[in-house]
Amino acid sequence: MKQLLLASGNAGKLKEFQALLAPLQWDVIPQQALGIPEAPEPHMTFVENALAKARHAAQLGKLPALADDSGICVEALGGAPGVISAHYAGFPRSDQRNNEKLVQALQQCSNRRAHYYCVLVLVRSAQDPEPLIAEGRWYGEVVLTPQGEGGFGYDPYFYLPEFSRTAAQLIASEKNSVSHRAQALQQLLQRLRAEQSSA
Ligand code: IMP
Repeated sequence: MKQLLLASGNAGKLKEFQALLAPLQWDVIPQQALGIPEAPEPHMTFVENALAKARHAAQLGKLPALADDSGICVEALGGAPGVISAHYAGFPRSDQRNNEKLVQALQQCSNRRAHYYCVLVLVRSAQDPEPLIAEGRWYGEVVLTPQGEGGFGYDPYFYLPEFSRTAAQLIASEKNSVSHRAQALQQLLQRLRAEQSSA
């Protein structure tokens, strides 16, 4: 098995990555297991933040590393909240205050189209000149009244016309088969498989 550091402290993501990458002989290890602290995310784009996190983990852990970054981008707000989705309404982070701020910002808007975005970056070393980059987008629209109890973050306000429900009303397996994160993961798997078969 090859070892891969995950630059995230999220237990759900760890499980998901472990299950998906085990068939490719990757053993996914959370960076905290090696005492690696979370990296700052100072950049204006998701891909720069994910790359910074992956490099940081690879540098300190001396192993290949995988990082992700995600958020919600609203068309009428020029892509905001974007990279600051987790703390759109400031600190300490609060999903409730983030959602209140988003609803407030869109109150007078007829165009409430939005998408979730996820990028995954895998570096083979901190100096890797060719990181593997995979991304996914999940399109929907923001509703002003929450619906559903599932998911997290903006899910109760993220309505999906193809399901006629919000993301918080989907069962986990439905969300996990079509979400921005699922799409990025599938793309990453394809890239890794292609790389392994040409090696
Ligand atoms: P992170 O990339 O896991 O740090 O997520 C960044 C932020 O984007 C989260 O804190 C949420 O506010 C938002 N976000 C990302 N993915 C989702 C999702 O699937 N549902 C709801 N909110 C999400």
